[in-house]
Amino acid sequence: MKKMPHIARNPAEAREFLSLHVRTRSSVGLVPTMGFLHEGHLSLVRRAKEENDICVVSIFVNPLQFAPAEDLAAYPRDMERDLELLSAEDVHLVYSPSPGAMYLPDRSTLITENSLSRCLCGAARPGHFDGVCTVVLKLFSVIAPDRAYFGEKDYQQLQVIKRMARDLDLPVEITGCPIIRERDGLALSSRNIYLGEKERAEALVLSRSLDAAEELVRGGETDVTRILDVVRDVISACPSVALEYAEIRGADDLAPLDIMNKRAVCALAARVGRARLIDNRVLERRD
Ligand code: AMP
Repeated sequence: MKKMPHIARNPAEAREFLSLHVRTRSSVGLVPTMGFLHEGHLSLVRRAKEENDICVVSIFVNPLQFAPAEDLAAYPRDMERDLELLSAEDVHLVYSPSPGAMYLPDRSTLITENSLSRCLCGAARPGHFDGVCTVVLKLFSVIAPDRAYFGEKDYQQLQVIKRMARDLDLPVEITGCPIIRERDGLALSSRNIYLGEKERAEALVLSRSLDAAEELVRGGETDVTRILDVVRDVISACPSVALEYAEIRGADDLAPLDIMNKRAVCALAARVGRARLIDNRVLERRD
């Protein structure tokens, strides 16, 4: 019989649980999430379980990373179902603070990463990565994980967190995990719940456009403009998918690229109905 995870609702409760359960040489793995869990999240949880003695999952819809016009209030939540899923994975601790337990009304400290977070989603969502970095640093401070697990689905977020951990000498290993997709290619996302049946079918052009980019690179294409033209063509075949950006950048530094002369990432964001979806593919030349 799997046990319900312990639930901590504020930093003191989380620290108390960890002080009782973490022994001198045991390791702690943390999976930060905003809940409404799916197989993508669970793949991170399984990896954290495999590699650590104690597995902590945080569930917190972080107001700081949503702009006023964004979907904070509508963001899907289902704590009961999340806890069932995490109990089946034998997670030890769920850290799920209320917004009030996370942020004091007169808080005045924000963590800013000033380079990698400027482009792509950072350009489209000003302040978003300040919110992400601040909440992740606070989670690290309370849980003190040895390892933390992030999905490559949020590729830029993973790079920004790696940079923050490096720059601030945080004693945590940041592990990126592969994107989990539906059979037909759609990347799993809590926001897919916003999609109607027709929109869901249309959203497939995103992963298809990335397939096309991958295929071109495999075939030896090195001209970034030509690859992006094809990506945009595939997406524009579906007029209800409103592309926000399609870019190819260096896979580690997110610097702009003209020629595929190093490992790169093709990153997309698009609106499909009410949903803002992102997807990406790491592109590597064969030779
Ligand atoms: P979220 O709850 O959307 O903030 O996501 C929490 C973590 O799960 C982040 O590190 C995401 O990158 C990761 N994640 C979300 N969707 C997927 C997916 N389809 N595959 C792998 N990881 C994912």
